[in-house]
Amino acid sequence: MESVARSNTLKYECMLFDMDDTLYPLSSGVNLACRKNIEEYMLHHLNIEESEVPKMCLDLYREYGTTMAGLKELGYEFDNDKFHEYVHGRLPYEVLKPDPLLRNLLLSMPQRKIIFTNGDKAHAIRVLSKLGLGDCFEGIICFETLNPSLEDNATILCKPSLKAMEAAIQIANLDPNKTIFFDDSARNIASGKQAGLHTVVVGSSTLVAGADHALRSIHNIREALPHIWEEEGDLPQKIIQSNAAELTIVQA
Ligand SMILES: [Mg+2]
Repeated sequence: MESVARSNTLKYECMLFDMDDTLYPLSSGVNLACRKNIEEYMLHHLNIEESEVPKMCLDLYREYGTTMAGLKELGYEFDNDKFHEYVHGRLPYEVLKPDPLLRNLLLSMPQRKIIFTNGDKAHAIRVLSKLGLGDCFEGIICFETLNPSLEDNATILCKPSLKAMEAAIQIANLDPNKTIFFDDSARNIASGKQAGLHTVVVGSSTLVAGADHALRSIHNIREALPHIWEEEGDLPQKIIQSNAAELTIVQA
């Protein structure tokens, strides 16, 4: 008996996606509104001098991955949940619309798909729901995942720290060499590469350090990365079954 089959070994096993400014464009205005809310929190709740707030907000974001993580490192004390509520609770989520094109792309990928965001869980669920992508992912690695029982003044674990990348790899049980990581942040991409992941910078048509590919928009994924849908040694294979019912696989 003889039949033709294809190897079912995919070149990649998992797609790891950042969420904000990766699954929807920076131009949506959500990022700007978020920064404005953080600045207001710094001004009204932490009593930081108004003239210092914008620069400090940006500097801490650059230095520590999130402004929140930087504020904690500087010794500011505040409740994480209340901070997230204040910063994300008043975001213009209505600007995010269902994205059926992206949804179809994600659903057509045979790999595991996981979100890896520095944002909190409530924000992640709300964004994915607004984009109509709530059921496209196996799981979400978010603030609460990486910081499950944060003690007062403990260091917040978040991208782009290599420790955060390694924690995500371990939590999701990923083989970095078989995982593609998508993120709009050049620092996160550099860190992802350091952790051994394949990397795609999103929202840019030029490569950044550590990026294997650059995607102007997440919608261009199929044109730019057709190998996501390809299988290892994508050639027909001949399966020959002997009388003893043992299978021998012979490359055609
Ligand atoms: Mg992002």
